[in-house]
Amino acid sequence: MANKAKRLHTKAIHGGLDPAAHRGAVSVPIYQSSTFAFPTAEEGAARFDGTSDGPIYTRMGNPTVHALQECVADLEGGCGAIATATGMAAISTVFLALLRSGDHVVATDPLYGASRGLLTRYFSRLGVTSTFVPAVDAAALTAAIRPETRLIYVETPANPTLDLVDLIAASATAHSAGIPLIVDNTFAGPYLQRPIELGADVVLHSATKSLNGHSDVIAGIVVARDPSMLATLRDAAIMFGLTIDPHQSWLLLRGIRTLGMRVERAQTNAMTIARWLEDHDQVAWVRYPGLPSHPQFKLAQQQMDGPGSIIAFEMRGGVTAGSILMNSVRMITLAVSVGGVESLIEHPASMTHKSVPESEQRRQGITAGLVRLSAGCEDLDDLLADLTQAMAHVTAAIG
Ligand SMILES: *Cc1c(COP(=O)(O)O)cnc(C)c1O
Repeated sequence: MANKAKRLHTKAIHGGLDPAAHRGAVSVPIYQSSTFAFPTAEEGAARFDGTSDGPIYTRMGNPTVHALQECVADLEGGCGAIATATGMAAISTVFLALLRSGDHVVATDPLYGASRGLLTRYFSRLGVTSTFVPAVDAAALTAAIRPETRLIYVETPANPTLDLVDLIAASATAHSAGIPLIVDNTFAGPYLQRPIELGADVVLHSATKSLNGHSDVIAGIVVARDPSMLATLRDAAIMFGLTIDPHQSWLLLRGIRTLGMRVERAQTNAMTIARWLEDHDQVAWVRYPGLPSHPQFKLAQQQMDGPGSIIAFEMRGGVTAGSILMNSVRMITLAVSVGGVESLIEHPASMTHKSVPESEQRRQGITAGLVRLSAGCEDLDDLLADLTQAMAHVTAAIG
């Protein structure tokens, strides 16, 4: 119901659309041009000083990119957005724009492996220190704040454990410290969760995942609640050259047009698969925000409009059984990434979260045998049939 009132399908389909501005084109054209002619020297100067908003140069802005940004800002309820070349470029934009030597970051665990690595391996070299607290522990988040803490960075649901961060509590902590709350909203996406409505200041995405949804684009986007934050972030993205190109923007915008339909269908598949896995005697446990067995099931219902399409589970036979399962699926594809129309399965400990030291993985709940499944939009019967035959291989091999 909440989704209906938000008119999210309409926003996804019409966001950034202005046929009159593009000779009537109903699909925003690809402005494959690096630079744009100024009608007069005065107009060129006006564009540079910001009194005219026409395009200048594609690293700084482009009509196709602009349409994409309008659409995602509208979906997330922000004042504007900056589309970036990758999800990591979106995260880099935020850190490069807001942090300087001597600053401190409080982040939650687990995070996407490279997001954590950016802080521990690169920003540490630039004099920025970080404290990581468990995603589920709101009190630890508050306790970790220091006078030099400049931002709170969270991911919810977290990759790959599907732990949730209480966004209302996290934004209260951030705002009482006078610092922004940054949320990686990749796993839920704006159709299911809009952190700005819950107090977040900046929302970012790996648009590579469900926003695009077709496993054919690498991209990112950052959305800001207020214009001064947006200006700060945009300046950094432009200066560091992290912005997206028009062709990728066009593909991404095309993917976003069907966001709600894809997300709803994948989520319906995921719900049934999660229950099926939970009932399966080869499976030790399942973590999915739509199951009452999720320790934060209540929170999921409060801050999300649906549990999404990503499931974490552990086989009773641990890593060995998980490997047999992943090697035995036929239609479900053994590949990293999530949120595409095709179902994907992977092993976080040896793949997406390989860069996180083993002791850290265990501390964060990334068990050795954890398997991550991103349910796609295939026919449910085909997905269950594939899992059934793969489970039979596990039983045949290890009993
Ligand atoms: C994939 C992912 C990223 C990184 O995005 P890229 O598009 O691969 O650069 C960041 N955060 C989360 C949660 C992700 O799943």
